[in-house]
Amino acid sequence: MERKRKLSSHPDVKEHLICAICTDIFHDPRNLACGHVFCKKCLDKLNERQLCSPVYGPIIGCPTCRQETILPKSGVNELSRNLPILGLLDQDLLIKRTPTCTEHNQERRDIYCSTCLVYICFKCFQGNHSHHVIKTSNEFLEELSQKTDDAKQRYQVQLKTLENNLLEADLEIQKMRSAKQSIDDEYKAKLEQLNQNRTVRLQSLNKTAKKWESDVAQFKEKGKQFKNNLAIAVPKLECKTLDDLDGEDLKSYVKNVDNVMNLLKTDIGVEQLRLWNKLLVPSAASRPQPGSVPSSSGGTTHQAFQKASPKSVNQPL
Ligand SMILES: [Zn+2]
Ligand SMILES: [Zn+2]
Ligand SMILES: [Zn+2]
Ligand SMILES: [Zn+2]
Repeated sequence: MERKRKLSSHPDVKEHLICAICTDIFHDPRNLACGHVFCKKCLDKLNERQLCSPVYGPIIGCPTCRQETILPKSGVNELSRNLPILGLLDQDLLIKRTPTCTEHNQERRDIYCSTCLVYICFKCFQGNHSHHVIKTSNEFLEELSQKTDDAKQRYQVQLKTLENNLLEADLEIQKMRSAKQSIDDEYKAKLEQLNQNRTVRLQSLNKTAKKWESDVAQFKEKGKQFKNNLAIAVPKLECKTLDDLDGEDLKSYVKNVDNVMNLLKTDIGVEQLRLWNKLLVPSAASRPQPGSVPSSSGGTTHQAFQKASPKSVNQPL
């Protein structure tokens, strides 16, 4: 938008209106302590690369004579403007950079119409643009330049924020993934230990159960015999009038009563059945150990469990 600024002044004057850093016409010229003058934007760039004195704060070395200038608190912005150069620039630029109006010949278009977004001359303003919002072209260009700088700065700030946010988003995704992974790992480790416990307890139980089953079979056989014997002996005690018994009947009856009494003394093996209850309670070795499963590692848990278990229970029967 900014039109190319051109100088047609006397060559000697022109020479003094050029910045030694950017080799262009001064833009907002500022004085250094040594007397040399540079554009504000050029000094800003220079300042970014300068060292900071621990005593005086930021210092700028003059690119022309190397003399150092201690910067004021708010930096380059607080350095004094070179008013003579500004005056020369204003005079020269005002004449040279403002084109003339095509409708009103020879009138300089040094007014900016904010309503129509065009440069106009004073006669244009008196005509079609009389009720429009206007400002001088210098004011407009200064504002536009500031707006542009502002937009660039905001862009940089927002870009940085966005990049930080994107980085944070990646971190959050990473956190979520590792949370999922640790749940999975923990579950696998517990499942593995559960399977181990199941195997050990079943093996232990199966081994004892074989002996128990044969004991129970014996118990049942004995019980059957017991019932059969009593089924014959007990009915003989029924319907007898004891006073009438005598001779062989009495002998036979007394023998039968003794027989029944003897049969009733027989061990019917209830203790063998109760043994089963003991088997149902898991032994200390095969019971799950609280806290023995570190959630982070499944493999070591398995090994630790194997070591803690009696070797015999892990062998197939
Ligand atoms: Zn410059
Ligand atoms: Zn200097
Ligand atoms: Zn005009
Ligand atoms: Zn207008």
